[in-house]
Amino acid sequence: METARDPKSLISIVIPVYNEALSLPGLFDRLGEVLAVLGRPYEVIMVDDGSKDGSFDKIVELAKGRPVTAIRLKRNFGQTAALSAGIEQAKGEIIVTLDSDLENDPRDIPLLLKKMDEGFDVVSGWRQARWKGSFLSRKLPSVAANWLISTLSGVPLHDYGCTLKAYRADLVKGVVLYGDMHRFIPAYASWQGGVVAEVPVSYAPRLHGKSNYGMGRIIRVLLDLVVVVFMHKYMNRPMHFFGGWGLVSFSAGAFFGALSIVLKIMELRDFVETPLPLWSALFIIVGVQMVMFGVVGEMLMRTYYESQGRRPYVVKDKVAVS
Ligand code: UDP
Ligand code: MG
Repeated sequence: METARDPKSLISIVIPVYNEALSLPGLFDRLGEVLAVLGRPYEVIMVDDGSKDGSFDKIVELAKGRPVTAIRLKRNFGQTAALSAGIEQAKGEIIVTLDSDLENDPRDIPLLLKKMDEGFDVVSGWRQARWKGSFLSRKLPSVAANWLISTLSGVPLHDYGCTLKAYRADLVKGVVLYGDMHRFIPAYASWQGGVVAEVPVSYAPRLHGKSNYGMGRIIRVLLDLVVVVFMHKYMNRPMHFFGGWGLVSFSAGAFFGALSIVLKIMELRDFVETPLPLWSALFIIVGVQMVMFGVVGEMLMRTYYESQGRRPYVVKDKVAVS
């Protein structure tokens, strides 16, 4: 954790917008209210993710006279891409993200900032009131998904899906986000040595329009989780994963082969009487293939790091003591 930071540093507020023209006036009202009493410099970055309902014009209209940058993506690229675009443009030392449909309340922003000022690197909102009244169909899957992400990532949070979060800019700018993976930023940040906190935030159901996601999201989140955790554990050493399982498979194949030979010599079973020779061949081939996969993985990993001058570590401080 960093030491407490300058409370006068610039705050960038990044908001993805997809067909939210009806929610935007309320959003600007509340943002205006809270930012007026924030007592620190801020910028708002609204990213229109290819809306078809005139959201962009609405943003430009509402933003008159305020420090707002409006970005418009060429088409709908998805919430993660919209957030990335905004984060890339942000100039602040702290970046706060939130939804534009008013499910997050801008009035919670000072809560997150207060926690950030204590020196945390990421502060995640926790919408305690979400899914009231639909326990089995929505709340239970959400609790289970958050538990699974927490367990596998080693970063315990109740609400990975909450967009209302604050990040130290240099940490979040270093994360390249693919697919739907913005929800995993706290895990990435923690793996890089960042310290993550959680604060309860308010939650209000959408008044206008409807959610862009259905139940299918749970499956996508779980698949993303596999990728994220795998990358975290084995990105630097693919051979340890593929090679390890390859050796297990190869050993099993060798064992089945030896067993079939012993049975043959002792005249207990002929080769064609047991599945052992087939298993042996199968497991040995799979084992060799997996070790080869590991080699290919190592080559890819080296290309990745060396072509971009990347380092497999993050330096915190460097002091030349004389
Ligand atoms: N969003 C976006 N691009 C998309 C889908 C959503 O920028 O393709 C924005 C949307 O305007 C909202 C936020 O992402 O501000 C969350 O979307 P939504 O409310 O549909 O998701 P949920 O609240 O159900 O998680
Ligand atoms: Mg929403």
